[in-house]
Amino acid sequence: MSSRNQWDLHRSVWASSTHNPIRSLVENLHMEPNPNKKFLALSIGDPTIFGNFHTSSVVVDALTESVQSMKYDGYANSIGHESARDAVAKYSSTDNLKYTADDIILTNGCSAAIENCIICLANPGQNILIPKPGFSIYKTLAESLGIHVRYYNLLPDKCWEIDLENLKEQIDEDTVAILVNNPSNPCGSVYNKEHLKAILDVARSYFLPVISDEIYEYMVFRSEKFIPMALVADDIPVLTCSGLTKRFLVPGWRVGWIKIHDPVGVLKEIRTGLTALSQKTLGCNTLAQGALPKILTETPETFFIKTINALERHACTAYSILSEAKGLTPIMPQGAMYMMVSIDFENLPSFQTDIQFIEQMVKEESVFCLPGLCFNYPGYIRLVLTLPEDSLIEACQRIIEFCNRYYINQSEKQQN
Ligand SMILES: *Cc1c(COP(=O)(O)O)cnc(C)c1O
Repeated sequence: MSSRNQWDLHRSVWASSTHNPIRSLVENLHMEPNPNKKFLALSIGDPTIFGNFHTSSVVVDALTESVQSMKYDGYANSIGHESARDAVAKYSSTDNLKYTADDIILTNGCSAAIENCIICLANPGQNILIPKPGFSIYKTLAESLGIHVRYYNLLPDKCWEIDLENLKEQIDEDTVAILVNNPSNPCGSVYNKEHLKAILDVARSYFLPVISDEIYEYMVFRSEKFIPMALVADDIPVLTCSGLTKRFLVPGWRVGWIKIHDPVGVLKEIRTGLTALSQKTLGCNTLAQGALPKILTETPETFFIKTINALERHACTAYSILSEAKGLTPIMPQGAMYMMVSIDFENLPSFQTDIQFIEQMVKEESVFCLPGLCFNYPGYIRLVLTLPEDSLIEACQRIIEFCNRYYINQSEKQQN
């Protein structure tokens, strides 16, 4: 029997502890663009919105065929159709790293892959280690469920490698996993084999599995090589999260996956747990599953090369222009589609925070990028590099003019 006699609805603890810091920060920004200048948003991590990057026609055809076949209208097994999982396994296998369909779980985008890995490994009150700066969704996903995050530092002067001593310091009795994002959002960094091995040495000493967010896999510039974490993890369990989203330029399709790498046979329960968790959503979009075998085998290499060459060209252009900006230091990325730029507040004394800097830049120059605070890294701004090149150049030039107006060289001032 209930004694309730009126409406009294409140959001749950789960709902009220779910925050996306990017959304809330951006909504609270004071944004008044200059009406005389075209608004240029270097803020959105969706490469399709500007109209210059499109997926391959092979990908489009594969989905069309899947729809027209009418073979993929029904439910799949919640971890995904065997044929789709097999396609992901083959796509992800190399001579020295073998996956089978049983090692793959399809999810609604890479975010759901990450969420399920976190939930599967951590109880409320336990913690996972995440990068700083880093993608904000890790914290959102964990804290929503009462799982804590502890930040380890990345080193801007060492191409954003992990500060391994700092990583070790974060580990305690309640730590259940190390989450690594390579290539990185927001840094655009790409880790070499030695660094991956050094991270795995820490994981080995503390018996911690690695969750590897590799949604930007293979999106690396010409002089770099992408190495999957699992490839060098001979004796460490690794849950790799990836999907079609970034490399195939279809973020809206919501196709992601978890790859289970268990070289020492310790993930048996985790495997069962991940399968159980996939049953919460009844799995990934089946039309995309029908298309996966063709997408993953027939998308031409030329498509990937064209995309990555454009990203590299954009990165070089933005870097070389912004290297001339007074009071800013851009850090050249090695992959992905972002660049971090540090603000030298000493010589730009009108600003105390990255938020103020951005609000004023929007007001005067109608150029918007995300404050580092969105990635738990104040004092920086993050540029998205996927705009058409002429818009990107225009935006960078306006940033330079903006900085020139506010720059005061403090060391010269003191000498005078
Ligand atoms: C975009 C992005 C994702 C999310 O991918 P979805 O497939 O859209 O869920 C995950 N991790 C990082 C670092 C990203 O930038």
